[in-house]
Amino acid sequence: MATKLFRTNSFQRSFDARVVGMTTHQGKPAVILDQTGFYPSAGGQPNDTGIIAKYPVTDVVERDDGEIIHVLDTARDTVPWQPADSVHGSVFWPRRWDHMQQHSGQHVLSAAFVRACGLDTLSVHISADYNTLDLGTGALTRDHVQAAEDAANQCIFDNRLFKIYEVSDADLPGIPLRKAPKVSGLIRIVEIDGFDFSACGGTHVGSAGQIGQIKIERADKKGNETRVTFRCGVRALAHHRALNDVVGRLGTGLNVGLSDLETQVSKMRDESKSLQKQLAEAQALLLRHDAAQLIGRTPANADTGIRTILATPANHDMIQLRTLAKALCETSGIIAILGSLSLENNRAQFCFARSANLAVDVRPALKLSLGAFSDPGAKGGGSADLAQGSAPTSNAMAFESALDQARAWVIATSSGTVVSV
Ligand SMILES: [Zn+2]
Repeated sequence: MATKLFRTNSFQRSFDARVVGMTTHQGKPAVILDQTGFYPSAGGQPNDTGIIAKYPVTDVVERDDGEIIHVLDTARDTVPWQPADSVHGSVFWPRRWDHMQQHSGQHVLSAAFVRACGLDTLSVHISADYNTLDLGTGALTRDHVQAAEDAANQCIFDNRLFKIYEVSDADLPGIPLRKAPKVSGLIRIVEIDGFDFSACGGTHVGSAGQIGQIKIERADKKGNETRVTFRCGVRALAHHRALNDVVGRLGTGLNVGLSDLETQVSKMRDESKSLQKQLAEAQALLLRHDAAQLIGRTPANADTGIRTILATPANHDMIQLRTLAKALCETSGIIAILGSLSLENNRAQFCFARSANLAVDVRPALKLSLGAFSDPGAKGGGSADLAQGSAPTSNAMAFESALDQARAWVIATSSGTVVSV
């Protein structure tokens, strides 16, 4: 079994070792060494990467038999190693350092939640993208979060030492572990001086000051648990920098300082709502005007008195089509066949409606129009007096033909259906 150099010195970045043997892992060659500084994925801490001789190490796995295998990013026949060959390994330090900060920070934050709020950590996730820990409560408050965050960062300010040592099962009762260990025999203890005791085989900083900072970003309730998302060290700094840049650009764009930014955004949101309302009112007026013109120039059927109005206003969205249809049908004896083709969105919108005094059902007309497009994206629905739908198309002829079919069907069907005009 390989000697785990990272257990005795988590700051060792390179090492010499002898080859024990070769194997494969998911189709890639993998080497087993007599000792290694590469940490395998375990205990919620992701694996190291790096290089052995000239071969990139992309994954490090501890097998069930306890052997650590180093997966090499190369073809099997390019690796000439025989047992007892000497090799030199280098751990990719920025990744390891980041993991040490996140993992050590999690020890501190979990202990801080216990000390500040009496809340235990149930599970932990640390990855290249984000860190979370799950707490056994569905009632985490903002005060809890701030108290734990303050306690965690005070531990950093105090620069408490991380002491690593092994004890036997027999000595365990004398150690106030935050959580019972999952292994037996010799137990590796990670003690944060005067703050926390945990059983852990991971890699850790030498003292809490090396974590730099712990920042909780959010807390999401999930039933009787709460998932806390946090960042430590270089990640916390990078995130703070990104936030600062965004806020800075917003402030510059709006010509206000940080203290006035929220007020200014709120004011703009209110103004936008008010303008949208005014615009909708103005559009409604305009559509009423359009409706009056359409009615004025469409002659009524000599027998039924019904005006079947087909209109294709350009660039009307569904809300505008519906508003126009309703404005038309406020007048008795109207059947509105409206459509708008957007070449920009490659989509045709349809809205068919009829006045309250008519009995014709406009839904079959809509079905007929949508059926003219074989695309399954053509769909719609509604009620007997108003139905709407859309179809993906940029074909103006197909669009007009679909509307003509609807109009012809309506004219043929509405004969004799007039209640009173
Ligand atoms: Zn640990």
